[in-house]
Amino acid sequence: MQVKDFLKKLGLKTKNPGTWTGQESLTGSVRSIQSHSPVDGELIGSVTVTTREQYEQVIARAQEAFLVWRNLPAPKRGEIVRQYGEVLRQYKDPLGRLVSYEMGKSLQEGWGEVQEMIDICDFAVGLSRQLYGLSMHSERPGHRMYEQWHPLGIVGIISAFNFPVAVWSWNACIAWVCGDVCVWKASEKTPLCSIACQHLFQKVLKANDLPEGISCIINGDYRVGEYMTKDTRVALVSATGSTRMGKIVGKTVAERLGRSLLELGGNNAIIITPSADLKIVLTGAVFGAVGTAGQRCTTTRRLIIHESLYNDVKKALAQAYAQLRIGDPLDPNNHVGPLIDKGAVENYLHAISEVKKAGGKFVVEGGVLEGPGYESGCYVKPCIAEAQNDWAIVQHETFAPILYLLKYSTIEEAIAIQNGVPQGLSSAIMTNNLREAERFLSVAGSDCGIANVNIGTSGAEIGGAFGGEKETGGGRESGSDSWKAYMRRQTNTINYSETVPLAQGIKFDL
Ligand code: NAD
Repeated sequence: MQVKDFLKKLGLKTKNPGTWTGQESLTGSVRSIQSHSPVDGELIGSVTVTTREQYEQVIARAQEAFLVWRNLPAPKRGEIVRQYGEVLRQYKDPLGRLVSYEMGKSLQEGWGEVQEMIDICDFAVGLSRQLYGLSMHSERPGHRMYEQWHPLGIVGIISAFNFPVAVWSWNACIAWVCGDVCVWKASEKTPLCSIACQHLFQKVLKANDLPEGISCIINGDYRVGEYMTKDTRVALVSATGSTRMGKIVGKTVAERLGRSLLELGGNNAIIITPSADLKIVLTGAVFGAVGTAGQRCTTTRRLIIHESLYNDVKKALAQAYAQLRIGDPLDPNNHVGPLIDKGAVENYLHAISEVKKAGGKFVVEGGVLEGPGYESGCYVKPCIAEAQNDWAIVQHETFAPILYLLKYSTIEEAIAIQNGVPQGLSSAIMTNNLREAERFLSVAGSDCGIANVNIGTSGAEIGGAFGGEKETGGGRESGSDSWKAYMRRQTNTINYSETVPLAQGIKFDL
């Protein structure tokens, strides 16, 4: 399918959409962001940057919409999200293609992201009938005590380029069934994906005669993000991106005593033990390291390999990397697509030179690809280096396909290496030894938000709570009881007796 065809199917009619705002009734911005595809360097379209005045209009609309939306019973809100899931099923193909073309991930992964959106819609529909509070036994006779959950109001969502649609939906679908309204600032690197999602959701709102302010988008870089982080009207800011960004956003929101939910960088490792099944190891490690060209927060960046099989794993990896096909991610024959932009290529090259400076040896060499098919200048070779865990470059998350090999001799040492980085997102162990597996999952094991056995570090399901510890930010999104972050808890005590007994037996007689 041609680019202009899938843009047209998504309602982005012309090759250069020019002045899309996402909130079509807003006009007046003069600045715009050009969205170039990393696949071929072509301009896909431009999007106007939201001005301060437009932001004020968006917030006013979101506030108005909240008054309507919060009064709709939660299962009715779930019905709206169910309809959105149906629309996404209908548009899975063109939206997946746009994700792939604008972000540069494989078409399989582009469709996979839309599938994740559909899955979270289904999850949220069920959740809309399960926003449970507890009831407690009161210590006072003739009293009943329970808790209930109310929506927060406006939820601000700031998202990263690498999951340009799924991460927003993890937040928005849950927030909506909770009764919140959402304002989304997507990555300035993938603005058209957010406009397409917004168009599709607006269709559902229109069909149900609901206010458009239930879902708003604002466009621009960190300066537009700051409108929300500094705004007391935005009750929760859920921000996904780098640790650098999270430290600023967390501080800014905390200064006004707002709530933040932070999903930040990872530095994920797989421990490969002597009893590991090598076929599982190879699939898990190679997909984890080169999938999405190493641009997943859960990308495998470090392999911690037992000394007894270190050389065998190293050889097998080198052979597997030799089979990798790098090129147009919309071509299903290719395994690895481009990095997001030339800045990311610079970071990749810088990391390689730092590894060399530290004394690292490359098992598979890296480099930038040139020539036909690589005109965008964003295609790089996935590479593998032998390294030490305490090197500054290994401690740092480089958002590119660079894999570090580390050696261990005891399981305690392997776990210490796995935990010995500032980030704490995803981790895995490859083992058929029950004791090792349980040790890795025990309180003295992995310190990450995600710990897997015989599965790589990347590719989470929406049913679990997603997020990580330490510099990954501590937030949890998506499944399990992550919904609680999008609501406020209220404790209610009802006195149905004819006296007024005080708690703790305090006497106060008039
Ligand atoms: P980034 O931090 O450069 O940008 C992310 C978003 O934050 C963008 O929308 C950006 O405009 C906004 N932003 C940046 N500074 C801001 C500020 N001061 N105030 C308000 N908004 C601001 O990240 P990126 O390059 O788009 O994405 C890659 C990073 O995201 C990696 O570190 C990756 O690990 C992380 N990530 C984490 C998760 C997770 O769930 N833990 C998921 C996806 C990506």
